[in-house]
Amino acid sequence: MNVKRQAPKHTTGWMVRNYRCATCWGGLIAHGENVHCDNPDCDGKEFVTKEYVEKRRMADRVDYQEAMRNVGELLGFAKPKPRYEAEILNELGID
Ligand SMILES: [Zn+2]
Repeated sequence: MNVKRQAPKHTTGWMVRNYRCATCWGGLIAHGENVHCDNPDCDGKEFVTKEYVEKRRMADRVDYQEAMRNVGELLGFAKPKPRYEAEILNELGID
């Protein structure tokens, strides 16, 4: 059986929907057959998948929360440990 295999040709619309700028992770825009970053201040010329950007942003959010928690602990602003009503009443001398 002779099967002709060919890499799928992606349309510019498909690229815009499924890829992001590798430099700023912003959206893309199509100009004819060419796809560019839609941020006029960015000169990014390479692309990454939309899924990659979403995973990296999620990982960055987790890193940010951990960093803020660590900074809070270093500066003494850590959230107090949650206490039960019985503990509070006991500290106040109320049984
Ligand atoms: Zn960009």
